[in-house]
Amino acid sequence: MVINFKIEKKEGLARTGELSTAHGIIRTPAFMPVGTAATVKAMLPESVKETGADILLGNTYHLMLRPTAELIAKHGGLHKFMNWDKPILTDSGGFQVMSLSKLRKITESGVTFQSHLDGTSYDLTPERSMEIQHLLGSDITMAFDECTPFPATEEQARISMELSMRWAERSKNAFIAREGYALFGIVQGGVYPHLREKSATALKSIGFDGYAVGGLAVGEGQKLMFDVLDVTTPHLPDDKPRYLMGVGKPDDIIGAVMRGIDMFDCVIPTRSGRNARAYTDAGEQNIMNAKFKDDPKPLMEGCPCPSCKSYSRAYLNHLFRADEMLGPMLLTWHNLTFYQTLMSGIRAAIAKNQLAEFAHGFLTKYRANIKSDEKEI
Ligand SMILES: [Zn+2]
Repeated sequence: MVINFKIEKKEGLARTGELSTAHGIIRTPAFMPVGTAATVKAMLPESVKETGADILLGNTYHLMLRPTAELIAKHGGLHKFMNWDKPILTDSGGFQVMSLSKLRKITESGVTFQSHLDGTSYDLTPERSMEIQHLLGSDITMAFDECTPFPATEEQARISMELSMRWAERSKNAFIAREGYALFGIVQGGVYPHLREKSATALKSIGFDGYAVGGLAVGEGQKLMFDVLDVTTPHLPDDKPRYLMGVGKPDDIIGAVMRGIDMFDCVIPTRSGRNARAYTDAGEQNIMNAKFKDDPKPLMEGCPCPSCKSYSRAYLNHLFRADEMLGPMLLTWHNLTFYQTLMSGIRAAIAKNQLAEFAHGFLTKYRANIKSDEKEI
């Protein structure tokens, strides 16, 4: 047992519990803010901690290019380098190689690509990805996989999934197991139920500390994403953490928790915060909107973040209109606080066997301002 996952309470398929790692405990269901280049953009690590986050996500692709995993290791690992002493999960680099790099070529061995920064050529293989994540000192290492594009034919999704399963086995063989550090496998298979089942079965026979569902939130829409979860989570071990990669909006998270997911990551709260979009219990708001120009109220009544405690909508509106950097900082802080408050609400609701009521109450208010044709899940 390299990490311990303790489920405290279940309601339907939803679970709440604790995942213990080398750098501390992650309360689940958990949302991981994205710290792409060894920083959560516009936030001090101390401030990220204050929002209630137990774990951050770091991006292997970005860090291997700049400043390099070897340099970070020389400076004591990613935790010390970026002054974050809680758990860190790193992705394998596979997804961003496909979405950001130039002239990439996939072979059985791995991926050869050119950096989007300066065109330098790199090889990324399952073995190299494990080595980089080890050098970074990640508490949770992700297996190297190919994120199957959407849309993909059944044949394309099968070939891609089978390659990812061979890479998953090589990842497991290359991973250096030690107490408190975990390796997660990633289920692929596109939108095809039997491929998802095959992938989950293959990963279970290799044996991982946790299981991620990959290849979703790539344009398929919420309904199809939920359909894929419905046919995937039943094939995953009940006693291991489950992570839905790259998801999502608050309503995606609630729906996925109800389908048995324990962990999430997404750039939405941080990226939106830098672009004047706020997440509130009354839905998504654009703080640049003229209606906020003279509004003395806080962004969201009752929100414990510094932005809502001390500043008005009029001030936030002004900061964004004047292109002041404090605007993105305050709105990112708010959005991350909103997400962590949502997660703690979800955990408390499951503990009391009231997730269905919590979800109904949250979504009714959250979607009140959305046009009816956009409401359907
Ligand atoms: Zn707030």
